Amino acid sequence: MHIHWFRRDLRLTDNTSLHAAAQKRMEVVPVFILSEWRANHLWTGLGRQQFLCGCLESLAKNLAHIGGRLIIRQGGAVAELRKLIRETRASSIYTNRDPDPFGRKMEEAVAKMADEEGCQLVLCQDIAIHERDEVRTGTGGVFRVFTPYAKAWRRLPKPGLLPKLTEIRTPENILSLPLPTVETWGLDGRVDIVEPGEHAARTRMKNFLRSKIFQYYATRNLPSINGGSRLSQDLRWGLLSPREVYLRCARAAADGDAAGRKSAEIFINELIWREFYLQILWHFPGVLDSDFNPKYARVEWKSDEKSFAKWCAGETGFPIVDAAMRQLNSTGYMHNRLRMITAMFLTKDLHIHWREGERYFMQKLVDGEIASNNGGWQWSAGTGADAAPYFRIQNPWLQTARFDPEGKFILRWVPELAGVDPSRFAQPTAIALSRNYLPPMVDHHREREITLDMFQKALVS
Ligand code: FAD
Repeated sequence: MHIHWFRRDLRLTDNTSLHAAAQKRMEVVPVFILSEWRANHLWTGLGRQQFLCGCLESLAKNLAHIGGRLIIRQGGAVAELRKLIRETRASSIYTNRDPDPFGRKMEEAVAKMADEEGCQLVLCQDIAIHERDEVRTGTGGVFRVFTPYAKAWRRLPKPGLLPKLTEIRTPENILSLPLPTVETWGLDGRVDIVEPGEHAARTRMKNFLRSKIFQYYATRNLPSINGGSRLSQDLRWGLLSPREVYLRCARAAADGDAAGRKSAEIFINELIWREFYLQILWHFPGVLDSDFNPKYARVEWKSDEKSFAKWCAGETGFPIVDAAMRQLNSTGYMHNRLRMITAMFLTKDLHIHWREGERYFMQKLVDGEIASNNGGWQWSAGTGADAAPYFRIQNPWLQTARFDPEGKFILRWVPELAGVDPSRFAQPTAIALSRNYLPPMVDHHREREITLDMFQKALVS
């Protein structure tokens, strides 16, 4: 008998480890272990846990459909898996390798325990199409810059998809806790998240590939249209296999006209950004604590709780920033363009450390993923791998003119501005745009100069 330990691969389709465990018609114990933290977790919040609960419910149904049963346990992974090995006499634990340092540490501890129990831990490749050691420079080094990494990534042969899993047999006598709810972690309330589960994720993928992908090039930067795929939480939780998304996309690209092909290629580039950041975290786990680029370690970020709270609440007086933060707080999602604008605003207009923003995003984002989030924050702050240079500072007013020129997105989230001429949302002002709204909390031009000064001082000190 084998155990399949689900972690961030909550699907049946093209799941490397689950397929390996289910080979040769062996009995399989598919288990998910709930962590035990309660409330106020620094890296996790309501939206993502709500999504997780929905995904587990859907996974349990899908497993039942092919004869299996999802076993839920709660506690430390090592202790819970040890109990399960003893209960089931399993000879192997299968799981998909986790790229983040916490997951890896856990794998080491589980491998040691499994060995003590006369069982083996089998780690499979699933979360990235190309793992840490596959994409290397000509001299065998690690890429620190995206474009050459992407070129090398594209040159590698891609794995195909696994056959459909039609049967899983789980022994009847294994105890399981009930499926979790957000109260399991001491949380309450609801976030307006997208539908969880493998089926919903597959529907999103198919809808995107049917038509939106061919306009991706033109619409992906417009938050009012949201021309993106909205697949980030599905890749984060493994509701879709990255191989399948890539292969279907490459097929769609081949079928499209020249413009459609260009669009699909740009989309594939985004999938490569995901893997670029995963490999950065694999090779440089220190990015979670410090700047990727040590040149900027001496930047003197400000500690300013009041300004940070205004940014979090979407009360900065900058309509585009406020709309974006309110979208995040209500839905657990924020459009990519807006992630850059709000991250630059926090770091370059308020001079607050990227780590504060990184943590807030991790708590709120349903797609919150350590590698991409850290990469995005360090990119925006100018301290990261292949980051925007520190002197390239986005101007929130100009960004509004370019990406929400008619104020459609802003009006969805900042109702206080109803009745105001939307062209004014992009014009720098020192006063409030309406009686119910706030004046901008800072002067962008002045703060830009301060940021340049902060970075230059750090470089010479
Ligand atoms: P699409 O535009 O449809 O892109 C397709 C897929 O490619 C995404 O689903 C995602 O998996 C991947 N992708 C796209 N852009 C990036 C990128 N810049 N870096 C890495 N992967 C990318 N993405 C996360 O998945 N989790 C995070 O926690 C996260 N935090 C971010 C924080 C900041 C400050 C920034 C600037 C970006 C962050 N991103 C993060 C990347 C990106 O914003 C989201 O992946 C994207 O907005 C998700 O929407 P989508 O699925 O419609 O993306």
